[in-house]
Amino acid sequence: MTDVNRVALVTGAARGIGRVIALTLAGPGMTVYVNDVAQLEEAEAVCREIEAKGGVAAVLPFDVSQAAQVDAGVGAIVKESGRLDILVNNAGIARDQLLVRMKEDDWDRVLGVNLKGAFNCLKAAARPMIKQHYGRIINISSIVGVMGNPGQINYAASKAGLLGLTRSAARELASRKITVNAVAPGFIKTEMTVALPSKVQEEMLAQIPLQRFGEPEEVAHLVAFLASDRAAYITGQVFHVNGGMLMV
Ligand code: NAD
Repeated sequence: MTDVNRVALVTGAARGIGRVIALTLAGPGMTVYVNDVAQLEEAEAVCREIEAKGGVAAVLPFDVSQAAQVDAGVGAIVKESGRLDILVNNAGIARDQLLVRMKEDDWDRVLGVNLKGAFNCLKAAARPMIKQHYGRIINISSIVGVMGNPGQINYAASKAGLLGLTRSAARELASRKITVNAVAPGFIKTEMTVALPSKVQEEMLAQIPLQRFGEPEEVAHLVAFLASDRAAYITGQVFHVNGGMLMV
């Protein structure tokens, strides 16, 4: 679905949704940088899978919340590949707790990775994209950023913040033919969600008209379309992939 000879960076791509996005973008002529801060063996395995699909891949370890690390990582991509066409801000964490019990560090870390991390990557990637007059940026938000969720005030705030970031960046970068969109998944089957208590999972399921949880592939195919040349006239939008749990 994507175009050949593009260079992509997917953050948090060692596992879960990010891994499947990296694999879905992969193909002959495509270079995919697989970022993560942990699970670097898994990230290497993702690279081998990308190569098996005829693409070029490399692990790029850095913590998205650290601007200097992000700048160095994106700098290495541009030095090695000469450009950066696609950025998928997927890295994310949750540290759930009720408001009154939430520690300052739980707030800071979740906002630091999910929101500041996306800002750091966006800012670093915008420089080569502006020069190229081409770019596709996709931010992975969440249904929780629109609906809210008890126990996730930090996570919901970070994911809602990504929507404002998406729209502002879309307006700022449009004249350089750079598009910026957000994808807001509902409940997708990954390591992040299987960790939830089964009672919470049952309550979620009861709210989903399509009566099942989503697969990472069902998010990744939309991301791959938004990352393609064919999505050139779509910017500043939020796309919901949630089985009908939220209809806007
Ligand atoms: P996951 O926990 O399975 O994977 C997230 C990956 O991000 C991990 O490999 C982790 O090591 C990496 N990561 C964490 N902090 C990082 C950092 N500072 N720098 C670089 N990498 C970092 O999660 P997932 O379920 O695949 O979720 C992926 C994204 O989708 C997240 O942003 C999440 O908030 C969002 N999302 C997930 C769901 C869901 O139901 N799974 C729903 C809505 C949104």
